[in-house]
Amino acid sequence: MERKKLFGTNGIRGLVNEELTTEIVISLGSAIGTFFKGGRLIVGHDARTSGPMFSAAIIAGLTAAGCDVFFAGLAPTPSLQYAIKNHKMSGGVIITASHNPPEYNGIKVIWKDGIEISHNQEKEIEDIYFSKNQILVKWNKLGIKHKINGINREYIEAIKNHVNQKLIINKKFHVVVDAGNSVGGLTTPYLLQELGCTVTTINANIDGRFPGRLPEPTPATLREMASTVKAINADLGVAFDGDADRSMFVDEKGQIHWGDKTFSLIIKHFLIKNPGQKIVTPVSSSTLIKDTVKKYKGELIWTRVGSVTVSQTMKTEKANLGGEENGGVFYGPHQAVRDGAMTTALILEIMAITNKKLSSLIKEQPQYFIEKGKVICEENEKEKIMRIFIKELKTENITTIDGVKIWFEDKSAILVRPSGTEPKIRLYAEAKNKEKARHLIQKYSLKLKDALTKI
Ligand code: MG
Repeated sequence: MERKKLFGTNGIRGLVNEELTTEIVISLGSAIGTFFKGGRLIVGHDARTSGPMFSAAIIAGLTAAGCDVFFAGLAPTPSLQYAIKNHKMSGGVIITASHNPPEYNGIKVIWKDGIEISHNQEKEIEDIYFSKNQILVKWNKLGIKHKINGINREYIEAIKNHVNQKLIINKKFHVVVDAGNSVGGLTTPYLLQELGCTVTTINANIDGRFPGRLPEPTPATLREMASTVKAINADLGVAFDGDADRSMFVDEKGQIHWGDKTFSLIIKHFLIKNPGQKIVTPVSSSTLIKDTVKKYKGELIWTRVGSVTVSQTMKTEKANLGGEENGGVFYGPHQAVRDGAMTTALILEIMAITNKKLSSLIKEQPQYFIEKGKVICEENEKEKIMRIFIKELKTENITTIDGVKIWFEDKSAILVRPSGTEPKIRLYAEAKNKEKARHLIQKYSLKLKDALTKI
């Protein structure tokens, strides 16, 4: 029988009051509390309408298992992660569905170092939950619920200390922040003001229905920000996902850039200061990352896709920088987790040091064109299709860390990988021109469909 699972690539996710109910969350809370064997935990949530409800449920479960809870309320995921480490807690639980639409919510469990727990630790919680082995403590040993105030302020101060404040302040940048009606608006606008920026916000009112745009930053959802930056002659635009651990940038011309391009700028900046260091990135990242790490003499470590894997690999490899194509940057000197506000401060520092606009900084880098595709299949067919697909590949240069990445001589590449959350296999192609990238998607989609007929 297949092992029952709760955790996906990034914690537990589900439709509110359908897949994820308060009953489930209470029971999960006591399973998580049992896993932590008591201790002190921080709990907080993003702006979703179900955030307060699930926070109450998780706190009920955690205190029933004997954990003391410090409730932080609304906060970005990286701010909660920083608070866990900074206040020497045993760990924490964050109620968020990150980039998913408003009808979803989810749960991320954080270890004492501020990093999401490992997949093995997730299995321990799943085992307690499914075998109903929660340890409920006696009435006189119940955990106590406290409030913790000021964590967003501590987080902003910590970020400021990792950049050259004076240099940034002198530049008097004008930045547009699109908070997507969620928790990113609680920290970054203030951080930027304190870094001497003029800040124009859009979608900065907290509203868990996300009326401004969907929480996933994409070229489609960021159109309003792009046109705002251009219309008011701002220097930069930044948009966050629902829990503000990822950031996407728009240059002064209103051009939206994928996370790869800004991560590559940060790699260059970091390796110039710290030559020879390790850079961690999933196989879904662009060849641009490979080019930049090579040019500035770093050591590249490829991982499976998923922020937990990147954080955990940074920990075991003692690496101080990681990043993903979706706009997640992990800046180790601050914390080895994705952090939208930290990333924004680094981009401003780069613009200040180089005295260049974002558009020209990005233009200086090797250009790749990215195309994406998908092939729909049944959940239980994914593995078989991939096996047939890989077997029939005639190309020699492949990496099979996660799905299969095929590298070609002309520097184009394609990643074919089953989705971790949906019944589909995704294709990501990149090449020196759009036609070639599109051609790769067409060619390998056909090969996948062909494999689908052979199972
Ligand atoms: Mg997120």
